[in-house]
Amino acid sequence: MSQTTITDKLYTIRFKCDTISHLTIKEQDVCQSCQGKNCNYFCPADVYEWDPKQKITMIAFENCIECGTCRIACPANNIKWVYPTGGYGISYKMG
Ligand code: SF4
Ligand code: SF4
Repeated sequence: MSQTTITDKLYTIRFKCDTISHLTIKEQDVCQSCQGKNCNYFCPADVYEWDPKQKITMIAFENCIECGTCRIACPANNIKWVYPTGGYGISYKMG
């Protein structure tokens, strides 16, 4: 039996993606010195990924399910979070 991936789960919800991210890293320098890179683990949709080559936190904002966790969970309060522009963002297909 194949294992369900996050990508499979994300397919059960759909997004109307804006071209502009509603999520912003305030200071990439702060991420460089962040020990835990917590955002790489607390986001249920794998939006944040530390890129060790570029030394920046990448944001796959298209996958955001608007749970709001990153508004409060970054220990440095280094993520700016707003709702997507009206009409864009998540819609639930199932459930
Ligand atoms: S948890 Fe916050 S400070 Fe740390 S890498 Fe993520 S966004 Fe940067
Ligand atoms: S709101 Fe939730 S799903 Fe979206 S980026 Fe933040 S933690 Fe991830």
